Parts: sequence; C-alpha cells; structure tokens
Amino acid sequence: MINPESEMEPLKLYFIHYPTAGHMIPLCDIVTLFASRGHHATIITTPVNAQIIRKSIPSLRLHTVPFPSQELGLPDGIESLSSLIDDIRHFPKVYHAISMLQPPIEQFVEQHPPDCIVADFLFPWVHDLANKLNIPSVAFNGFSLFAICAIRAVNLESSDSFHIPSIPHPISLNATPPKELTQYLKLMLESQLKSHAIIINNFAELDGQDYIRHYEKTTGHKTWHLGPASLISCRTAQEKAERGMKSAVSMQDCVSWLDSKRVNSVLYICFGSLCHFPDEQLYEIACGMEASGHEFIWVVPEKKGKEHESEEEKEKWLPRGFEERNAEKGMIIRGWAPQVIILGHPAVGAFITHCGWNSTVEAVSEGVPMLTWPVHGEQFYNEKLITEVRGIGVEVGAAEWTTTGFGERYQMLTRDSIQKAVRRLMDGADQALEIRRRAKHFQEKAKQAVHLTII
Ligand code: UDP
Repeated sequence: MINPESEMEPLKLYFIHYPTAGHMIPLCDIVTLFASRGHHATIITTPVNAQIIRKSIPSLRLHTVPFPSQELGLPDGIESLSSLIDDIRHFPKVYHAISMLQPPIEQFVEQHPPDCIVADFLFPWVHDLANKLNIPSVAFNGFSLFAICAIRAVNLESSDSFHIPSIPHPISLNATPPKELTQYLKLMLESQLKSHAIIINNFAELDGQDYIRHYEKTTGHKTWHLGPASLISCRTAQEKAERGMKSAVSMQDCVSWLDSKRVNSVLYICFGSLCHFPDEQLYEIACGMEASGHEFIWVVPEKKGKEHESEEEKEKWLPRGFEERNAEKGMIIRGWAPQVIILGHPAVGAFITHCGWNSTVEAVSEGVPMLTWPVHGEQFYNEKLITEVRGIGVEVGAAEWTTTGFGERYQMLTRDSIQKAVRRLMDGADQALEIRRRAKHFQEKAKQAVHLTII
C-alpha cells in the first residue's frame, strides 16, 4: 500500500489493461487512485476501448495504439473479447489481435519511458520490457488472492485435482480444473513473479491474512490489496452506469423499477461479459425463476429479443407468454446492465452470479449475498471462497468447467436446482439470515478498506 504520509515526487506511471471488460474495468478504477495522489498516470489502450473509458472515467489520461482489425479482417468496433458475446466467431482473431498489441506498446514505452509500468498479468512480456528499461513493473491480477493460491496449489498430475489440500482452507472444487487452462494460468502466475508486486482488486479481509501470508511465504512476492475497485473512483451515477460498456437500459428506468420493489425482494441474474449459454439453459433459468415466484432482473445477450427474432426463435429460450406473465415481476435486460447501480439498490436481495471476480467483489461491496454458478476461468475457486470459506452465498450446483465462457456446454442446470437455490437464500430461513448478516459484515470491511486506501 502506498504510504499516504510520504511526500513523493509525482511519478510517471503507465497502466496497460487486457482488452476484456473484466480486466479493463477494475484496472481503470485503480488508476484513479494513483491519479488522485498527483501521479501522472496514463492508460495504454486501443481506440474503441478509449471511447469506453472516456465515458466512464472522463478524467483519465489515455494513450492509444491501433487495434489490428483490418490486418486480421475483423469488423470495426471489436477490440475486446467482451464484444463477442453476441458473435463468438471472431474469438480466435481477437485473441490473435491482442497478442499483436505487444510491438506498438513496446515501441511507445521505449520511446517515452515511465518510472513504472503496471500491466495486466496476462501480458507477461511487460516485465522483460521493464527490466530492459531498468524500471520496476507491477502486475495487475484481476483474480482474488484466494484463487491465485488455489491455482498455484492445484496438482495436475493427481487424479483428484479438484481436491486442493495445501492452502489455508483445504477445498474440494465442484469440477475438475481444465488441464490446459490451468497450465496456462500457472505459467502466467509464475511470470508475474518477475514483477515488483501484484495489485489485487480485493480487500485484505475477504482474501484473509492467512492467504496473504501463504502467498508471500510461498513466492517471496508482495501483494497490494487496492480494492474493491468499484468503490474507489468518485463518479456520478451516470458514469457508474457506463462502467465497462454502454448500458442497454436507461439507468433511471432501472432505478425507478427497483424503487417500486420491497427491500431485498429482487434477484439480480447476470453472468458477466463472457458467458455464452445455450438456449436450453436460458429456458431453464426462466422456468426456475418463474417457479420460485421471486422478482428479478435478468441480463441476457443483446441479440435476444431483437426485432428480427421470430416468435419461434424466442420460444427456444423463453417460455411462451413469459414476458406478459411477468411484466410486473421481472425485468429482462438485453445487453449491458448498469451492474453496480443495480447491486447497490436496497431492493436487490441476492445475485445469481458466475463468480467472475469483479462481480463477486462488487456484490460484497454492496452487501448482496450470492447464488454461485461458476462457468469458466477461475470462477470455481471463487465459488468456494464465497460459499465455504466466507459463508456469503449458496451454490446452485454447477459442475461443468469450460476453458472459456464461449465454450460448448453439455450439462444444463435444471429449473428445479435453480428454484431450490433461490428459495434457500430468498425465503428467510435461519441459514439465509446468517448468510445475509455475513454479507453485510464484509460490506462494512470493504468500505473501511477503501476509506483507508483513498484517504
Ligand atoms: N458488467 C456490467 N454489466 C453487465 C455485465 C457485466 O456492468 O451487463 C460488469 C461487471 O460489473 C463487472 C464486469 O463487467 O465489473 C465483469 O467482470 P467479471 O469479473 O465479473 O466477469 P467476466 O466478464 O470477466 O467474466
């Protein structure tokens, strides 16, 4: 943590985000922390991402490098993996394009060297560049430290690699970690050790001092808990609503709808920026929600319900008459939702989440308990932190772990398991009250942590 008392000369700092919403959003928030201390902070980004950042945090200084769309035959406007949720065909090209950002970024940094570079841990080459320029680098890692420790501890050679005994709270995951993904993440986590320290979008109490000690002892590396990012930057509600992407609904409409609901009565359902569910799964969610009888805001991909979608196509993912029957009870958002605004509304009583780290820490920051439904990446580790370790959520029962959110899915969660999980948290039983109490406790800790950081 930066010492607030120190009389430092302003530093020239570069921040390099990985182009997906889940990586870019928290790093940009954290940049505001450094800028507010008088440092000359510049985000290195690409033109379309620059437009998004400007809308959400207008004060930030940006430098853009071109995104190689034309070279790779990509349509204009797609400069992030998160733009693919409606059309996953371009995934390999965008992935390739991201790797092509290295030379122009290196050229800029070499020509105008900063005092320090902070880069997403998925850009391990930045640490070699910093070394060459004889400046320190810091890795931004958008995972929880809990997940980082767990990934480091997974034994891929073992037949029960879902069982992780050698971390402070031994856990058994609900699915086996995919081998290639785990190898890749282990490699990235090893590369980040070349940096001076890692910045984590979390606060110490949620990861736990035992995990901080465990990580520092097993790696000799430093951790800086600078989150929750969503609580850091001072912004207008409208700017918060534009965090990460243009919202598909007006913030006012969303807030007025929530204003008409009772405290803790609404479920918020959103699977982040990268999950692509088949129609059958969306259909089960719709049926499960309807059967639970609870009110809800449900975020689905933008293409769902477009004018050109025929009734026949719609009925593949939404039961006939669903919207009419639930006109009062539910709101379906097609596209990007103003998530932090929704989670911060007192009517929201629980969050069905894919356990992406940002979503998790945003829910914690607002004291909202979670129904966990991990899908890909490191989300199955986060699920265990939420449910077993911190006791601020219940599991829906997901057991299919794909490498990316766009992967084919074969195991559907049934309407029955969805409804049961919803009831466990929303029907006010003792266990639910205890989970709510713990969620509020961690919300307090989150606020205190940010207060300490931004003083
Ligand atoms: N998000 C949002 N509206 C949406 C979907 C996502 O604002 O409709 C934001 C969410 O608040 C979070 C980020 O996008 O900050 C998603 O990050 P997370 O780590 O939860 O999941 P990912 O998208 O990386 O899987």
